[in-house]
Amino acid sequence: MRNMPRVLIVEDEPAIAELIAVNLRHNGFQPTWAMDSATAQRELDAVLPDVILLDWMLPGESGLSLARKWRADARTKAVPILMLTARGDEADRVAGLDAGADDYITKPFSTKEMLARIRAVLRRRTPEHAGGVVAIGELQLDTATHRVAFQGQPVKLGPTEFKLLHYLMKHAERVHSRAQLLDKVWGDHVFIEERTVDVHVKRLREALGGAGAMIETVRGAGYRLTAQTPIQTCSGA
Ligand code: CA
Repeated sequence: MRNMPRVLIVEDEPAIAELIAVNLRHNGFQPTWAMDSATAQRELDAVLPDVILLDWMLPGESGLSLARKWRADARTKAVPILMLTARGDEADRVAGLDAGADDYITKPFSTKEMLARIRAVLRRRTPEHAGGVVAIGELQLDTATHRVAFQGQPVKLGPTEFKLLHYLMKHAERVHSRAQLLDKVWGDHVFIEERTVDVHVKRLREALGGAGAMIETVRGAGYRLTAQTPIQTCSGA
């Protein structure tokens, strides 16, 4: 069994909060309720949730302002935020998304819709809650079964290449230096030359075949996994 995703409900109306909490509990989530911004902040400081359901209209600091604040904070910026709003018009939805909300739910909403939207943001932001499958383009990696496939065809990888690919896929489109990869994939307690990274990247590319070109060498900086179709120029590695 996987961990039950934690959901922080920030909602000042007890009846609505209770209804949401009951439904979340029945569907395998761990809800926590905060009735105002100060309580919500205390909850966040104590435990980082997997997703935040944030009411727009709160007494004191508004949900919009909280979303902006949490997005600007390094500790909370990656936590998905779903805005709960009675406001349906486009300008408000845009304001919510601009403030950093991942999605919004317009009140009144059905339980089914709420659960679907929560699952969708969890899939997008934390793939480990969605069966452990990470997909970038046609490349798929499943942490639960330890399987990798490209265009539906299985790819055989050694354990280090698997870990390396998992890390690169989870942090796609970003450039990682060799030192960072050693730290994140091998662990900082081992002494390995940075050249080792090159050796494993080479093996990984070979094993990936057609998808090997998704791992780019960024000259002088490191490596990046990209979903963009790479332009075939002279290869640096
Ligand atoms: Ca409210």
